[in-house]
Formats: sequence, C-alpha cells, structure tokens
Amino acid sequence: MTEQTLPLCIAGQWRLGRGERYASYYPATGEPVAWLNAANVEDVNEAIEGAHQAFLHSGWAQRKPHERAAVLYRIAQLIREQAEELAQLQRQDNGKPIGETRNLVASAAGTFQFFAAACETLEETITPSRGDFVTMSVYEPMGVVAAITPWNSPIASEAQKVAPALAAGNAVVIKPAEITPLLALQLARLCEEAGLPKGLISVLPGKGSVLGDAITRHPLVKRVSFTGGTRTGKHIAHIAADKMMPVSLELGGKSPTIVLDDADLDHAVAGVLYGIFSSSGEACIAGSRLFVARALYEPFMLRLCAAAANIKVGNPADETTQMGPLISAAHRESVERYVALGLSEGGRLRLGGQRLTGDEYDKGFYYPPTILEGLSNDQRVCQEEIFGPVLIALPFDDEADLLDQANDSLYALAAGIWSRDYKRAWSLGRKIQAGTVWINTYKQFSISTPFGGWRDSGLGREKGRLGILQYMEQKSLYWGMNERPLAWASEHREVAP
Ligand code: NDP
Repeated sequence: MTEQTLPLCIAGQWRLGRGERYASYYPATGEPVAWLNAANVEDVNEAIEGAHQAFLHSGWAQRKPHERAAVLYRIAQLIREQAEELAQLQRQDNGKPIGETRNLVASAAGTFQFFAAACETLEETITPSRGDFVTMSVYEPMGVVAAITPWNSPIASEAQKVAPALAAGNAVVIKPAEITPLLALQLARLCEEAGLPKGLISVLPGKGSVLGDAITRHPLVKRVSFTGGTRTGKHIAHIAADKMMPVSLELGGKSPTIVLDDADLDHAVAGVLYGIFSSSGEACIAGSRLFVARALYEPFMLRLCAAAANIKVGNPADETTQMGPLISAAHRESVERYVALGLSEGGRLRLGGQRLTGDEYDKGFYYPPTILEGLSNDQRVCQEEIFGPVLIALPFDDEADLLDQANDSLYALAAGIWSRDYKRAWSLGRKIQAGTVWINTYKQFSISTPFGGWRDSGLGREKGRLGILQYMEQKSLYWGMNERPLAWASEHREVAP
C-alpha cells in the first residue's frame, strides 16, 4: 500500500479531489489499500459541466455506431489484458474471494463487448406510414448520464451502466460507493487508454448523501442509473420526478428459493447454498428465504446444514476460499443485529450465528454461514433485507400456502425453484412475482437477458440488447412526400359544396 493520494478523474483531468482524505480498507485485515481525497460538490459541478462540453464538442455522439463500438471493443480487450490486476485490486477493495472477483472482471469485459455489438447493430425503423410521408423512429443520445453504484460488485455494476451509456453516445459521471472507489477509477483509465475522448467519463468517489444527491439534482444530468438500497432509490426517484428525468433503479431483494418435494436434492442443496452464501450473502439477488415442502423439510435441512458447515470462510486471496469477510465492521454489526432480532422474534439457530474468532478472523470482518428457522414469513427478519450470509428456512404445505408466503414481500427481485417436474416448475415460475426466476439453477446471468426488479426491488431494466435504448431518447421523423402543399392551407384546397 502506498501512502500516496490517488487522483480522481474529473472532466478530463486526473487530479486530487477537493474533499476529505480517506482510505479504502481491505475488509480481510482492516488495513488501508489506497488513500484518496473524496470529490466535493464543486468537483461534481466541474465534472458534469466538463461532461456536457465533451458531449457537445468531442464528436463522440456524432461518430458512426461502428466507430464508437470500436472503442468499446478496445475497452473490453484492455480489461481482459489487465484482468488479473483488476481482480486483485477488487479483492482488496471489497474483500470478495479472488475467484469471484475474476468472474466480475470477466463479466465487465463481456458487457463492453456486448454493448459494442449492440451499438453497431442497433436498428432504427421505418414505420408504416398513414399518409403522404415516410415515418421513421430513431434514437438520440441524452447528454450527461450518471451511474451511481454500490460496493458489492464494483466493476461489473459500473460496466453495466457505463457500457450502454457510452455506446449510446453519452457522457458519463460515475459515483462509486465511497468505500469501494478503486475499480471505477481504473475503468476510467482504461476507457481513456482505449481512445474515449477526455471529459466523457468522470469518477466522483465520496459520500452518496452529498455527491449522489448533487449529481441527481444537477440540471445537466439527463438520466440516473442507480444500483443500491431501496430507501436511496426512492429518494432518487423523488428528485427525478421533479426533474421529469428517467431513472433506472436496481434495488434490494428478499428472494425466495423454493424446494419442491420432487427436487433433485444434490442440485437443490448446492443451489440454495450458492444462492445465499456466495458473496457472503452481500448480493441483491441472494436467495435469503428458503421454502421447503414440509414432508421434505427435516431431511433437507440436515443435508443443507451439513454442507453449509463445510463452506470455507477465510482469506479472499486463497483460491479455495468460498466466503470472504463482510464489507465493513459496521455492516457486520448490522448483520449481527438482524440475527439477534430473529432470535428475539422466536427463531432458532440451525447453524452459525456467532462471529468467527482466531487468527485471520480477528482482523477482518468475517461472519459465518448462518441458518435460522422457526420463524414466520411476516416477521421482520423474513421481510427486511439483511444483505449478509443469513438464510431463513420456512416449511410450506401446498402450492397455495407457498405462493401466499413467497409473494408476500415488498421486494420482488428474484426467485429460485427446485423441481424435477418441468410442468410444475413452469407453472410456479409464472406465478412467482419477481424480475428473474431461476429454475433448477440460481444466480446465473447472461448480459443478453434483461435484469431488474418489481415493486420495492426497482424500476426499469438493465442489460439485454435493447438496454442501450435506456440511454437514448426516441424521436419520430416524418418526411413529407406530397406533390402539392398541405391541403388545409392551400389555395388549391377543395371545399365541399
Ligand atoms: P446505498 O443505497 O446506501 O448506496 C448505493 C450508492 O448510492 C452508493 O454509491 C451510495 O454512496 C449512493 N448514495 C447514498 N445516498 C445517496 C443519495 N441520497 N443520493 C444519491 N446516491 C446516494 O446501498 P448500499 O451501498 O448499502 O448497497 C447495498 C444495497 O444495494 C442493497 O440494498 C442491495 O440489495 C442493493 N443492490 C441491488 C442490486 C440490484 O441490481 N438490484 C445489486 C447490488 C446491490 P455511498 O455509499 O458512497 O454513501
């Protein structure tokens, strides 16, 4: 670790932020990884003004789609060339195991490649005309758009917003989470190295309540793409309503994962564990409510708990580690408070529930896989997002009982179904209310498939070929083909006798 203060990328300049000096900490040891000065509101204004000027004068928006695509392909290539350094940096910035951060980096490269292809193949349409004119539907870039991201999957979340926004011809300001700023800064460097005109990308680390708010309110910001907590998302939606500004909000979840009585138990055990405990449960899509057919409940729980007890929790740099530390001491305390709440609500611990101690565990913010049961779905721990490695197990009697419970949540982000009967799984999959339903798998993603939540889990969709359109304004063009002037005001008009 160097004590040197990292510069930020603001309006085409690499310079120190004007806010307070702070460090990004490695959650496995609590030691600083890098020092930087946060941006302040003046920096925000400068970045947005600069982005606006770059949008107007850099010629990026006017480049042909295949020319913009070429820069995005190059960004993907640079990410791949530096994949290992990026994965190691991300491991240090947010404490995820190295295997997982490698996947996130690969996903970011794939996202740039995908939106490069989406950009150069996007079609504008000639629509059926109803008069003496040709009608077209075309798309224009918006101007300056903002990407506000959380700490749990930095480079992948940022790529999901920055790639389509740039592909569409916009300028972007990124507000990464204060505690995980390093990957967004590195991404901006790669974008510039790939030939993106200066000023089109700025990175503004610092407190979201100050900077994120100032970005969202800024009149030159024409769209906000936000991933984070539901409360923050609603706050952004209020500001957006006043500005009549489109937003996309990828928010929290409390996703049900459902084991029917005909499930393949090997698959179900592995899938349920991966769904909740990978990323230490710090995932919006974590399958945090487990519903098991009552007849199967006890044998399934025995197998699940035995397998969960074998999950390797520890040093994120170790290739065999499955769960690293939580992001911060404060977040671990919040998870502990939820477990205590579950117990006070009448829950029983089936596994975990105690902070890990000894050697490396004393330095980092570790918490073990934890399974609670004996609760009902309406209790707070079953309704509120814990965002940690805590699974609540609930038995169900029949499909009606299951649907009552599984759909009874303010959130509706994702769900998992484990069954050998494809017709049953299909029928249930259509009745579950969620933006994504996985059948006999969990937490798998394709950039080509839209992602987003219902209800308090969000608004709008990211990804998918048409994800690029979220960063564009649609325009209709009418081309008059009349041989004569329009009849109404023409001296040749024919008046009915
Ligand atoms: P927050 O909502 O606190 O933060 C997310 C981002 O918003 C951060 O950059 C934060 O800045 C910023 N922010 C905070 N306050 C404001 C504000 N008033 N105006 C604008 N921006 C603001 O979420 P967490 O960091 O706690 O992230 C975890 C949440 O993210 C969970 O609820 C999780 O479910 C959700 N999430 C959703 C995903 C999805 O795709 N649906 C994916 C991943 C996570 P700072 O942190 O610097 O203060």
